Amino acid sequence: MRCPYCGHPEHRVFDSRPAREDRAIRRRRECLQCFRRFTTYEEPETPRLMVVKRDGSREAFSVDKVLNGMITACHKRPVPIEKLRVAAYEVERSLQTDFEDEAPSWAIGERVMERLRSIDPVAYVRFASVYREFQSPSDFVQIVQTVPSGQEG
Ligand SMILES: [Zn+2]
Repeated sequence: MRCPYCGHPEHRVFDSRPAREDRAIRRRRECLQCFRRFTTYEEPETPRLMVVKRDGSREAFSVDKVLNGMITACHKRPVPIEKLRVAAYEVERSLQTDFEDEAPSWAIGERVMERLRSIDPVAYVRFASVYREFQSPSDFVQIVQTVPSGQEG
């Protein structure tokens, strides 16, 4: 960041304080070349992950949808919901690490499968069996709901 007055890249911070209702930090800086003072604001980038579906359309990623899909796959299975919640957040984190803004829907399915495999084999098989038709987490919920109850473990 360069000094707005002289363009020098080095400056020192002499005051930092919360700003914008704690959503940002305001820093007062002093240029090390011209010694004039200026203000900067630092705030986190809003994480916004989009899911690209197979037809090319996009929707905002929702960790709740992932969780609901996993809950549905674990229907009547002895799996604590807390375990699924942790797994859903792991899926989200993994997507944010591997894809900056946009993740293909298959990448979500893959990660969900990975985790279900270690959590519950029946839920994993259920999920995997509908995975080929997987388009988005919400589609997945609808597909799993059509699985006849006689097929459940
Ligand atoms: Zn300067």
